[in-house]
Order: sequence, then C-alpha cells, then structure tokens
Amino acid sequence: MDINRVLKTVADVVYPRICPVCNGIVSRFGADICPECVRKLTPVEAPSCGKCGKPVDAGGLCEDCGRIAHVYDRGCAALVYDEYISKSIYRFKYNGKREFSAFYGRIMAERCGDAIRSWKPDAIVPVPVHKSKLQKRGYNQAELIARELSGRLKIPVDTALVERRAATKVQKELGAGARQKNLKGAFKVTQNAVKLKTVLIVDDIYTTGATVDAVAGCLKGAGVGRVYYASLCIGRGN
Ligand SMILES: [Zn+2]
Ligand SMILES: [Zn+2]
Repeated sequence: MDINRVLKTVADVVYPRICPVCNGIVSRFGADICPECVRKLTPVEAPSCGKCGKPVDAGGLCEDCGRIAHVYDRGCAALVYDEYISKSIYRFKYNGKREFSAFYGRIMAERCGDAIRSWKPDAIVPVPVHKSKLQKRGYNQAELIARELSGRLKIPVDTALVERRAATKVQKELGAGARQKNLKGAFKVTQNAVKLKTVLIVDDIYTTGATVDAVAGCLKGAGVGRVYYASLCIGRGN
C-alpha cells in the first residue's frame, strides 16, 4: 500500500465522505456516493447528438446543433441535468462541498473516458471563473472536476492558458442570443497556444454551449487546432 492510499484511508475514517446526492454520510467505506443514490442519477445514453452529446430521441444532431454552428468540435456529458444533480452542483458551488468533485470526475471518466481518449487532448482547460468570484468562493468548481478527470485520464490540466476577463452576468438568466453577447470578450488566451494541437474544455453544466464556444473561439484564435468539451451534466435535446 503506498502512502497516499494510506492517508486517503485514514482521511475516510476521520472525515466520512458526504454523498453528493442525499448530502448524508456515505456508509460504504471508500465509496464517493451511496449505492442507492447513484441509481437516482440518469446517465447520458445513446442515441445522443453527434455534436454536443445531448440525449436525443433519434440519432443525428439535436435541434440546437441543427440550428447553431458551434465553434467547438465535439462534446460529451456524463449525466442528464435533473433535480438531483442540480441540487448537488448547487452545494458543490455554493456550500463548499469541494469533495463532490471526486464523484463528478469519476463518473465523467467512466461515461466520457473513451470519447476523450479518442480525441487525444494535449491539455484539459477548465472554464475559468473571474478573479472576484474565485476570491469569494475560494475555488473554481470546473477546475476541481478537471483535476479529478486529469488524474484518471493522465492528461495535464492547464489553468493559466485561458483567463476570464469581465465579470459577466449570470448566464442562466439570459436567452441564447443574450448569452452569446454576454460572453463576447469574456475570455482571453494568455499565451501562445500553437503548441497545443487539441484541447479539452471542462465545465460542470452544458446549457446552450455559448460558454464552451466562447472559450473554444479564443483557443482556436490562438492557434489550437481542435477543441472538445466534457461536462458533468447536460439538458435533454429534442
Ligand atoms: Zn446518498
Ligand atoms: Zn447537440
């Protein structure tokens, strides 16, 4: 047993894991979620949109992707966005439940690992938050998920490459067109990125894709060839 595993085991005894769904103590030793709670979540299953990965009724593209030409190349999400995962993410973001990233990263590696490996990204870039938000919250939720995913897939995380500039309005309160406008100029690539052929953007929730497209646009403008995304959850398509 290596020292990290020993320390992890000790930590599990001293600080029992909190379940990302029911918010109670996970009774099974070493687990990151209750066995009955994981069954409440809905994994994204085929058929899914060939562009954004949203679950759809038939194959091909979802309605959104049929209408919008995305900047990113392709994407994958692990779970369908529903009340369980939405509450979980809320606690993760606003109630300091950083530890939920262990489950989030694991489920993303399980559900999206094959797709991500086939894309062969040189780096994982979590969607950055603005400095003021980082100060207030203490962490970037996308970065915590990206680090878990990075450890499992052995792809390095780069948090310095893209910076969030303006403190944008909360996206969820805006319509699709307004979202895009709101994000114009929101991200900036801080260094030459030509050496990176392929980048994977990681976020917690994929809604319209406006955020992923804004980051992907910056990266491609800085010389990155292909940009993919992976998110913990996504809405249903039609
Ligand atoms: Zn639970
Ligand atoms: Zn789609």
